[in-house]
Amino acid sequence: MMRSISIFGATGSVGQSTLDLVRRNRDEWRVVALTANGNVAELAALAREFRPEVAVVADAGCEALLAHALAGEGIAVAAGEAALVEAAKLGADVTMAAIVGCAGLAPTMAAIECGKTVALANKESLVAAGELMMAAARASGATILPVDSEHNAIFQCLSGDLDRVAKITLTASGGPFRTFSHNEMGSVTPEQAVAHPNWSMGAKISVDSATMMNKGLELIEAYHLFPVGLARLDIIVHPQSVVHSMVEYVDGSTIAQLGPADMRVPIASALAWPDRMATPCSPLDLAKLARLEFEAPDFERFPALTLARAAIAEGGGRPAQLNAANEVAVAAFLDRRIGFLDIAAISARLFDETAPIAPHSLHDVFNLDRESRARAEQLVVTFAKA
Ligand code: NAD
Ligand code: MG
Repeated sequence: MMRSISIFGATGSVGQSTLDLVRRNRDEWRVVALTANGNVAELAALAREFRPEVAVVADAGCEALLAHALAGEGIAVAAGEAALVEAAKLGADVTMAAIVGCAGLAPTMAAIECGKTVALANKESLVAAGELMMAAARASGATILPVDSEHNAIFQCLSGDLDRVAKITLTASGGPFRTFSHNEMGSVTPEQAVAHPNWSMGAKISVDSATMMNKGLELIEAYHLFPVGLARLDIIVHPQSVVHSMVEYVDGSTIAQLGPADMRVPIASALAWPDRMATPCSPLDLAKLARLEFEAPDFERFPALTLARAAIAEGGGRPAQLNAANEVAVAAFLDRRIGFLDIAAISARLFDETAPIAPHSLHDVFNLDRESRARAEQLVVTFAKA
């Protein structure tokens, strides 16, 4: 049976991996919407190949360019943030939410409100608006299928009552600076930070992996997706990225999901669920691997982990504030305006300054996001001078 799919963030790393799977199963998927931020040439090429109903570019200034690129193709063209939301409301059977950052929140929520299936890669939107997003899914009957490899692993390992779960453990590769001292991390470059040892990903999440803020955001993500409480959520460093996460039950059984470090595996799991589909990924060779390694995370060298735990414990507006500050700080680091250690330090400073109240609506989340970004931008200037 043919199903329809929309891909938000089609030109990104997750978007491309998703389209690779669609490309291999063209007779099974009808593409409804493809979106990108500003990469018009790439989006137009994908639109010509996948023939969506609509191609949307988030940057409103790019509309004419996209219309020109797709003239005569019979594909509707739209631009701007409101157009992204309209495209999400078209309600494809599956919506792949693969925009990076809080910019994905509005279209992701619109897709959830349609009550269909949302394959969620865009962790920042869940971090910023976790309670609201989970409530919207309950209200609409939408199914949120986690695409983040750890959460997809946990989803695959979970069965039965959450009361019978003793512990959920997220694995972390530890990133490129796993063995670096605090001093060594002080002088790392953006090039070193985006060179992840196991995964090929977009720039923002690669830097997040290097600071381990990625694992912090994932802890918040897990807190919402799998409501077992913070005390039953744990992190372990596993440098090989073979075990993608695990669930321990009260009887002493631990169920883990293993697989190659290729996002097409969790994406395929979400696209085919509750069925399975083939991927071209090389299977694991455990004999060659010989051993699996684990170590405890170092909360001192990676303060982002402590910040994320505090954000969950305090709740309210903290997670949205943390996400906003981190997005600004990561962008500033990639622009070489601040150092690597300043990334977590900026979020920590914002934490000390203001405790935002809980957002009660999407409107509140966007206000909090905007205010936190503005303050984080000021801190970037301060840290850049220091
Ligand atoms: P990416 O930077 O490669 O791609 C991001 C996509 O979002 C692009 O299509 C871009 O055009 C679009 N985009 C960027 N800013 C936008 C804006 N302001 N408005 C609208 N669209 C915008 O990122 P990625 O690595 O594919 O990650 C996407 C999401 O998936 C992130 O939330 C990330 O944390 C999550 N994720 C990624 C991976 C991975 O392996 N790459 C793994 C797990 C989770
Ligand atoms: Mg992950």
